[in-house]
Amino acid sequence: MADSAKVIEILKKIIADVDEQKLFLTELDNVIGDGDHGINLARGFDAVNDVIGTFEGKDIGTILKNVGMKLVSTVGGASGPLYGTAFMKAGAFLNGKTEMDMNDFIGMMDVAIEGIMKRGKAVKGEKTMLDAMIPALDAMKASYEADSDAKKALDAAVAAAEEGIEYTKTIIATKGRASYLGERSIGHQDPGATSFTLMLKAVQALA
Ligand code: ADP
Ligand code: MG
Repeated sequence: MADSAKVIEILKKIIADVDEQKLFLTELDNVIGDGDHGINLARGFDAVNDVIGTFEGKDIGTILKNVGMKLVSTVGGASGPLYGTAFMKAGAFLNGKTEMDMNDFIGMMDVAIEGIMKRGKAVKGEKTMLDAMIPALDAMKASYEADSDAKKALDAAVAAAEEGIEYTKTIIATKGRASYLGERSIGHQDPGATSFTLMLKAVQALA
């Protein structure tokens, strides 16, 4: 599915896509939060971009751990520690690996999501990034178990994440800043669910 060089290529796409989508993500956060999600993430991935040259020749675990540490130290807001934790957990899971297959990717997503849930004390259905992540992981697992086809599994994951974004429009936020809005958060999609889907799409496009 991906070696270290491919992971670096995917990271470069994420860096470019976050930068391109930062105003959109920030607009989404403007409606139900404080309007900094895109700017926060772009700052973090800019910092990753500054050190991406040092990732060459490193194992996937080391690369992802370094991404996580950069995000924690630069992103700020709720999403910094959450995405940072996710990448650090993913890195620990893939420690020493220079190749990952679909089972590795599924296992990595599992520990990353578990890390986010512990750190953010959140579950599915609270209008957060988890509402795209958990369905994406479930769909990916089910598809891969049925067909053993990595491409199909990633397509299923992206479709489920996109449905997850739509689902966030229908529910009240009970975690993060959007929870201050209560009922008024209904009708608006979650910025974090949107940014996660953008990252997953970069994997789908290149892996
Ligand atoms: P902040 O809310 O501190 O301004 P950001 O705007 O960068 O941080 O990120 C907001 C996103 O973080 C939300 O859209 C949501 O997806 C996610 N989020 C917030 N709190 C939690 C939580 N406890 N668990 C999981 N995700 C969360
Ligand atoms: Mg915000």
